[in-house]
Amino acid sequence: MPDCYICLPTCDNCRPKMVTCPACGKPTLIDLERCPLCREPIPDEARAAAWDAWRATHAPGE
Ligand SMILES: [Zn+2]
Ligand SMILES: [Zn+2]
Repeated sequence: MPDCYICLPTCDNCRPKMVTCPACGKPTLIDLERCPLCREPIPDEARAAAWDAWRATHAPGE
């Protein structure tokens, strides 16, 4: 996890991360327990996949 949280709106670490809700196919915030649109819980697998995708495009040196 990034070690800063909402430090700057332009900070790439703190920018909201999106995950695609498998139930309705809409992007939603990765931090949310449930999709605000269809009220389905976001599965850990979808969250993990979104994190992997985010890591793949950020901090390639780590
Ligand atoms: Zn930050
Ligand atoms: Zn949904």
